Amino acid sequence: MICHEPEAGLRALIAVHDTTLGPALGGIRMWTYDSDEAALTDVLRLSRGMTYKNSAAGLPLGGGKTVVIGDPRTQKSELLFRALGRFVESLGGRYLAAEDVGTSTADAEIVARETSHITGLPVEKGGSGDPSPMTAWGVFCGMRAAIEEAGVGESFEGVRVAVQGAGHVGGDVVRHLLEAGAHVTVADLYPDRIAPLVALGAEAGDPRTVHSLECDVYAPCALGAVIRPETVAELRCRVVAGAANNQLLDGSMGDALHSRGILYAPDFVINAGGVINIGEELGQPYDADRARTSVERIADTLRNVFARAKADGVPTHLAADRLAEERISAARAADPDPLSGLRPAG
Ligand code: NAD
Repeated sequence: MICHEPEAGLRALIAVHDTTLGPALGGIRMWTYDSDEAALTDVLRLSRGMTYKNSAAGLPLGGGKTVVIGDPRTQKSELLFRALGRFVESLGGRYLAAEDVGTSTADAEIVARETSHITGLPVEKGGSGDPSPMTAWGVFCGMRAAIEEAGVGESFEGVRVAVQGAGHVGGDVVRHLLEAGAHVTVADLYPDRIAPLVALGAEAGDPRTVHSLECDVYAPCALGAVIRPETVAELRCRVVAGAANNQLLDGSMGDALHSRGILYAPDFVINAGGVINIGEELGQPYDADRARTSVERIADTLRNVFARAKADGVPTHLAADRLAEERISAARAADPDPLSGLRPAG
């Protein structure tokens, strides 16, 4: 859907990729795209990724995404987010919005003035709040399943982890790892993000070389496409497991990790804690303890992916894709039009 309301300064795209499993959940990204084509490419790619993430997480949710074309530092306004809220509302619940890169809970609260199809509002307003702590908890639990699978050990005691990115998620991942006895090196572009973690016992790393440290686990928690031809050859880890979206430049990088004997915890499986947390506010009052237990199941999903990869003789990224696709195919066969009740008549 093209969302254009010049008086509100709104230029945005909403993509609903798949609703076989339920309403399409995906965040609102605000970014200064170089062209409308770049925004379209991004929204299509991101909405597809949400379909896979929500399916693999076992959620009753499809995949969607919004991109707002604009600078989040200078072009946000109440008018803009209210106008966007009306577009979300016009989809009648087929798409559920959330915050994402460039938007915040405060922006979501403005969207909520025009539509109830927005998630991730503050807990005191009936939402599930900031998803980052649950994403971090899921990454930590998933990483434990990955080190077991790779034969590194059953606990984090003395396990060497190199974390790239100490933002909302990476910072919490480091804290969980330190509490569990891991030896953590953490790198970020901003030293002030590292300092509090160094005070807790982490070692400061260099953002240019953190991926190539000799360690048990390399945890990408910053940007995507960090596993690419030049970096994959430099990795000296046994496991890649982190929060970043789209860690592999493309599928061939998953093959490269596999042939180097490095276990890859597929990103959309291990970083699903945020959407699992959102799933906990839908159709029932949000409960943080129940959400935490649900997020911990990421470890079981990963074990399934690893078992599936072995059984099928394929790299883990393909096994994760198959898991997500099979769930959607089975649901489609059982009910080809699950959201028919939400579609406007005529
Ligand atoms: P954030 O912006 O809070 O943190 C990212 C951090 O990475 C920043 O501190 C930044 O300075 C640092 N960084 C950027 N480039 C770097 C580099 N080259 N080397 C080292 N550090 C670098 O973002 P976040 O919310 O912590 O998310 C981190 C990643 O996890 C993103 O890829 C995001 O898409 C993904 N993710 C986040 C969530 C969530 O709940 N926040 C959920 C799923 C996936």
